[in-house]
Amino acid sequence: MSSLPPPNPDHEKLLYKLVIQFLIFSQGSHKLLEPHLLQIGKRLKSGAGLNELTPELQAISKTLLHISKQPEDNKKDKGADRQNGYLLQRLDELLANSDVPLRFQQQKAMLRQRVKTNADDQTFNKVIDSAVALLVDIKDYAVSEQKDVGGFLNQLSTQLGELEQQVEMVGQTNRISFDHRQNLDSEINQHLGDIKDDAHQAEELTTLKTITGDHLDRLMMQLMEHKQLEGERQLQAQQQIALMTEKLQALETETEALRTKLKIEHDRALCDTLTGLPNRLAYKDRMEMEANRWKRYRAPLSLVVWDIDYFKRINDNYGHKAGDKTLNLVGQLLLNNCRTTDFVARYGGEEFVMLMPNTQGHQALEMAEKVRTLIEHCGFNYNGDKIDLTISCGISEFTSDDIADDVFVRADQALYQAKQAGRNRCAVYQNEMTLPND
Ligand code: GH3
Ligand code: MG
Ligand code: MG
Repeated sequence: MSSLPPPNPDHEKLLYKLVIQFLIFSQGSHKLLEPHLLQIGKRLKSGAGLNELTPELQAISKTLLHISKQPEDNKKDKGADRQNGYLLQRLDELLANSDVPLRFQQQKAMLRQRVKTNADDQTFNKVIDSAVALLVDIKDYAVSEQKDVGGFLNQLSTQLGELEQQVEMVGQTNRISFDHRQNLDSEINQHLGDIKDDAHQAEELTTLKTITGDHLDRLMMQLMEHKQLEGERQLQAQQQIALMTEKLQALETETEALRTKLKIEHDRALCDTLTGLPNRLAYKDRMEMEANRWKRYRAPLSLVVWDIDYFKRINDNYGHKAGDKTLNLVGQLLLNNCRTTDFVARYGGEEFVMLMPNTQGHQALEMAEKVRTLIEHCGFNYNGDKIDLTISCGISEFTSDDIADDVFVRADQALYQAKQAGRNRCAVYQNEMTLPND
């Protein structure tokens, strides 16, 4: 098979011109040609190339062959003048009904003017030439316009893609100012809406390009401005957060110090500084807790109230320092000789209290006796001077609907009895008081 030479654009253009001329000259010449001529006219208007016209041209070729075989009478010339007039009328209709781009409107108007005022054959030919030239120009313009539209749409979609990225970035950085972002969103929507409206209204690609370009430029400017503002805003927010974190940390340290101080003070408030034992306030707390427990579980609970015998004498004979040392010693002996579940406190002066959970009165008495004897024989001395040290106590056990004060009063009464009975004694409160040393 031999290959065809590549199409020559000049030849193509010439052929194209010939087709148009043929169209104009043949219009109205034969009714069998009419539908094909109309079809070609339509295609030419929509900017079709030679290739797309080929089927119609082939159809015309066939029709011409058919016509040429018909008797001579049918092909008889109806007169050049009549045909010219008819052609000019059709040309005028063609021009009037065609959608001619804006830039060709003036040429079209002038041509129609010339079509209407035609006279001789020479003018007729010139009008036809001009019409052909105008149609070829319009076709070329339509083709180039289509190419430009493609390019322009590509460019537009790239720019819109960039715009979307920008909006995304702005969205990411702008977490603080919701209002500001909403404003930007509505601005973007406004611009995009304007682009759409203008695209509908613009009659020519160049105008549309300019307007759309302007919109996009303004939009980009606003985005850049927005981005910068957001950057500054975020920096400011970060600085504020850093400052607040610093303040918060300082506050936490301060709170912690305060908490420690409070704990120390609280402990101090519950502690007797001389003996290191819990003080009267601590006793009240503990007593309340143990009394509640007793109320609920009814496990035996006893209270012992201790009082150093003739303590005033120790102070008077050996001085207050000796008295303090005595208080310290008695406190330690009481503490070290009871159970860890028991509670010992200095109630005041030379009086101590001992709370003994799970202990009945007679069991408390047994334990108290041991401690009393221990203290009696502890060999206490001050600066080498042996000091007689004895202690007495009163014991009472929780019964029926007792409250803490009831038990304390009864233990104190028992203590009084122990003192009355000669001191260095332990006494359990009973309706009829009994003293083990009696
Ligand atoms: P009794 O056997 O009847 O209990 O006689 P007492 O001398 O122990 O009792 P009294 O109530 O007459 O005296 C208690 C003394 O305890 C009076 C006070 O000087 C002394 N005293 C109270 N608290 C302290 C203290 O913290 N340190 C010293 N050194 N003495 C104290
Ligand atoms: Mg006393
Ligand atoms: Mg005393």
